[in-house]
Amino acid sequence: MSEHQGRHDVIIIGAGPSGAVAAALLNKRGYKVLVIEKSYFPRFSIGESLLPQCMQFLEDAGLLSVVEQAGFQSKNGAAFSRGDEYDYFDFREKLTPGYGTTYQVRRDKFDKLLIDEAEAQGVQVTYGHTVTDFELHTDGVLLTVTDEALSEYRLQADFVLDASGFGRVLPRLLGLDKPSAFESRTSVFTHVEDRIDNQSFDREKILISVHPENQQIWYWLIPFSDGRASVGVVTPPEVLENLSGSDLEKLKTLIGVADFKADLLGDAVFDSEVGKIQGYACDVEQLYGERFALLGNAGEFLDPVFSSGVTIALKSATLAVQTLDQHLSGLEPDWQEQFADPLQKGIDTFRNFVEGWYDGRLQDVIFSAEKNPAVSEMISSILAGYAWDDKNPFVKNPARLSVLAELCRNAERGKQADDR
Ligand code: FAD
Repeated sequence: MSEHQGRHDVIIIGAGPSGAVAAALLNKRGYKVLVIEKSYFPRFSIGESLLPQCMQFLEDAGLLSVVEQAGFQSKNGAAFSRGDEYDYFDFREKLTPGYGTTYQVRRDKFDKLLIDEAEAQGVQVTYGHTVTDFELHTDGVLLTVTDEALSEYRLQADFVLDASGFGRVLPRLLGLDKPSAFESRTSVFTHVEDRIDNQSFDREKILISVHPENQQIWYWLIPFSDGRASVGVVTPPEVLENLSGSDLEKLKTLIGVADFKADLLGDAVFDSEVGKIQGYACDVEQLYGERFALLGNAGEFLDPVFSSGVTIALKSATLAVQTLDQHLSGLEPDWQEQFADPLQKGIDTFRNFVEGWYDGRLQDVIFSAEKNPAVSEMISSILAGYAWDDKNPFVKNPARLSVLAELCRNAERGKQADDR
């Protein structure tokens, strides 16, 4: 095994959004950063719907202008349908100040743009190499890397950021994996030529549709700017297992019963590979340790229903770099107080919403006919990714969601009684 020359301040495992943003931020602060990426870009990744809060993180990393120039589909909100109920949140109408629009992106193109721009700014990136081991020494870290020819070499760094997504390199190597408190769910998805000619369909919003009979099953429709769209379904695993046929046939069967979506996708051309991810929710014992921190999906991943993955990934990169800057400057930052606790606050805000989605509280709030505009702006802020804003009562006190759901349900019962 060869020792590569030189020592890096920071090595980042993975060149997805969290790796690219962390690398660009560190490079801006003058640190010597190397990103090791096991695949070659562009490569497919799921997770195409961004939240407006992402825009600030991209801007701070100097990566926003390339994204703005890429011609991605603009996005200004999230729409929801359940049977014949339909409602939406416009992210420009929200409590928290900041960006109110963002993009729906093909991740192969988006992820490549980010890492290419980070590289253009001075970050070093190696593709096709896989990080396979982590050894802690008193004066730094030794990483083992396997190249395309399956030869191993070692790299030295002061600190390692694990941005390996579902690769979860350090959680696996260091035994940090912990089962998620969320039930296991399966997602099947693809890209289609959507051929939607319904003039009332809003391409600037993700559409989340609930299965007409089972609120545990939901669908996404994320339109792109070129007449194509990402389409997927999330279900308890047994629902999929009990269907016959290929994953494509199962996806089509499930779409067929989602009344609103079936109308929209009646002419769609299913011309791309179908992907499947099972049991995606994951958690860890700790988000940092001696000379390492976990970013994005390498830490905790909840659920895709509110498109929070990339936003949490970029927030984790931003907080980690601020804390790491102090470490690299010879200070002794408090990783719990400066990184893990603040990150967890937003994750917990989304966790409360995800739990509320699956137990029906949030669905009843979303589809309630009686909406208070000020409360809608608070919900809209969180759906737009501003999950760390303490001025939002639903961030500060997550239990408010139950109270609101009860109010909405009472109003609905009152309306039904009046109708009788
Ligand atoms: P990734 O983007 O996964 O990047 C990790 C990189 O690390 C990869 O390029 C990989 O090749 C590399 N790597 C892995 N192992 C190694 C190794 N050993 N050595 C070197 N490199 C390695 N999020 C949203 O924001 N919006 C959505 O609409 C959305 N929809 C989703 C739908 C589903 C069904 C699922 C499961 C997730 C969805 N997400 C969504 C979440 C989103 O996909 C992730 O949160 C996001 O991609 C995380 O980014 P990341 O930078 O942490 O990791």
